Amino acid sequence: MKENGKLPSLAAKWGATVEQWQDAAWQMRHACCTAEELERVLQLTLQERAALQQVGQRLAVRVTPHFLSLIDPANAADPLRRQVIPLPEELESHPEELVDPCGEQKDEKVPGLVHRYPDRVLLLCTDRCATYCRYCTRARMVSGKGRERWHLDWDGALKYLRDHAEVRDVLLSGGDPLLLTDERLDTMLSELRSISHIEFLRIGTRVPIMLPQRITPALCAMLHRHVPLFISIHCNHPHELGEDAERALGMLADSGIPLGNQSVLLRGVNDSAEVQRALVHRLLQCRVRPYYLYQCDPVVGTRHFRTHPQEGIDIISALRGFTSGYAVPQFVIDAPGGGGKVPLNPNYVVAEEPGRLLLRNFRGGIYEYPVTPQV
Ligand code: SF4
Repeated sequence: MKENGKLPSLAAKWGATVEQWQDAAWQMRHACCTAEELERVLQLTLQERAALQQVGQRLAVRVTPHFLSLIDPANAADPLRRQVIPLPEELESHPEELVDPCGEQKDEKVPGLVHRYPDRVLLLCTDRCATYCRYCTRARMVSGKGRERWHLDWDGALKYLRDHAEVRDVLLSGGDPLLLTDERLDTMLSELRSISHIEFLRIGTRVPIMLPQRITPALCAMLHRHVPLFISIHCNHPHELGEDAERALGMLADSGIPLGNQSVLLRGVNDSAEVQRALVHRLLQCRVRPYYLYQCDPVVGTRHFRTHPQEGIDIISALRGFTSGYAVPQFVIDAPGGGGKVPLNPNYVVAEEPGRLLLRNFRGGIYEYPVTPQV
């Protein structure tokens, strides 16, 4: 796999060797958490500087050198910058916004285990991420700054899972499970695998995007021992998929791990058909199947990111039929209050009449489908 040719100059800019730059622990130690640290690489606006002084009580700030290197330092509207550098709007709260928009707390059966859907559960494995996203749905517990303290009762979770034979699918999320050590993750996956009715494991992670240096041969070899294991990454813009992320994703794919992407539709970041088309095409090049496109949850402090749901439907209309079906994600709203994911689709059925359906194709042409009488 080819190496990123820009690495020597990138590392030199940070006073590091290429080996240091490629070390995940070095990246985490040098992640920027304050205005002063960020100013070394970005020219902050007055609004950003003001927000950085105050948002820490809501959700910590942390950005890896890797992700910072993908941001255009001269562009205050850079789509990657918008995701990780706070604005004062983050401190506002609006009547439609909630602390726990997906209602996870009410379905938390054991601390850290959320059981909402019939056959699958969510495990909140950690509250730490390599970089914190300003629109995070779990800002209440992620980063240790919000009003809820993360706690996973691992033994209690295992007992719950052993007692609930209907659970066949476990999603490890957080925070970011790939920040756990290989040893800890291996133990957790092994203990889950020892429960006979659990067929399928998934990890939700933004690490291949924010900290691709964490994807090592040793991690991949360990994950491979636990297949069938799927990984859902979280990538919102094609600029996030540089050579290092592509290499990390290729290593995971080579380890036999199917990769899907969950993106969030964000104003000023990826709210156009052009950006979404470039994103899904780049994802497929990186061997990742676009899976979900989420309407941004109404979490407190994120109104400036939210689009109208119709914009998501229009984006799907602009993709469906115009590009490979594999490239088209499912647009969903996670229904506030714990309703779960609700798919939103363009309407292609124009009319239903006795013996026929009138259908609209992707170009707007009307076609008749003869409905076979059912006996
Ligand atoms: S990586 Fe996920 S959990 Fe972490 S801050 Fe971003 S959206 Fe939240």
